Amino acid sequence: MNQHTRFNLPICLAVEEDAFFHSDEIIKRYIPEIIGQKTLIISEEFLMGIYKEKICDISSDFGGAEIYAMGSASFDEAVSIAKKVCVEEIKVIIGIGGGRVLDTAKYAAHISKAVYICMPTSLSNDSLASPFAVLETYGKARKTLDCKIPTAIIVDTNMIINAPQEQTLSGIGDTIAKHTALFDWKLAAEKGSDKIDDFAYALSRMSFDSVYHCDQKDMKSRVFIRILSRALVMGGLAMEIAGSSRPCSGSEHLFAHAIEEHYPDIRITHGLAVALGTIPACIFQGQDPSGLLSFYRTHSLSIDPSSYGISEEMFADMWEKARTIRPGRVTVLENVHPDRVQLNEIYHRMKEEA
Ligand SMILES: [Zn+2]
Repeated sequence: MNQHTRFNLPICLAVEEDAFFHSDEIIKRYIPEIIGQKTLIISEEFLMGIYKEKICDISSDFGGAEIYAMGSASFDEAVSIAKKVCVEEIKVIIGIGGGRVLDTAKYAAHISKAVYICMPTSLSNDSLASPFAVLETYGKARKTLDCKIPTAIIVDTNMIINAPQEQTLSGIGDTIAKHTALFDWKLAAEKGSDKIDDFAYALSRMSFDSVYHCDQKDMKSRVFIRILSRALVMGGLAMEIAGSSRPCSGSEHLFAHAIEEHYPDIRITHGLAVALGTIPACIFQGQDPSGLLSFYRTHSLSIDPSSYGISEEMFADMWEKARTIRPGRVTVLENVHPDRVQLNEIYHRMKEEA
């Protein structure tokens, strides 16, 4: 898809307190025609343990919908769900869970052409409304696949407030990444390797601004969770409108991909890896990182690489790998080639300022 083709927007975006308790009423308000259609709920075993009551309630609200516990967040799992959906003439898929569940459910709905309702239990990244699904393909190797965005997104603010803090911090990281991503996108456009879509650019900028300049700093407050939810959804829609991930993904994401693909033993979430990448990316871009540093401090989001088990050597190697991990993606890394001394300096600054 490119920026000249059409894009889709969700019909429903509800961000409400206890939204999961009346999801059927929300859907009835926006898309009444799908009420009563055969529905499949996709979640995960451990989430079904934690949220048993809520998921059962949603199932009965949607005509006794079957609840399916998915296994791996893989291409094969998505295809097998899609097969079930087609064969059993299921018309609606509801995904209830974190990124793994939502990506698998989104892709299954995409292939089977079912209506997809996205109900996140945590806000760890902007994939909930993006036109992509990241799935395992062969073994643990993962690929980003083009996908249709959800028809409806229902965020229960109470659910998110009670989700593990690390998940929310990851969502913040993925939002702050838009700062360096947009800079890189402009750079790529100047070099003629990409084109800026103004509306997608503005949407992504607003997504960043709403969280970065938010007066409410308490991550457990309803106001903050509402703002973060909308920011992540807007990021996803910016990608849908641009027809690429460029409005939300630049050199800081290349760094995160280098960790994900080359250092699978480093236990760090996508959003936190991306946050870690924003400080060096900012410096490479010639921007002052002090605003971001103080923002991360305010939210107690650690950008000390050593706190994630990343040594100086690994840090330097990750940036080296980041250069080649997505060939064709022009970022500031084309302009700069920091040496070990500079990278060590940045590493230590991040350690001290975290
Ligand atoms: Zn991301």
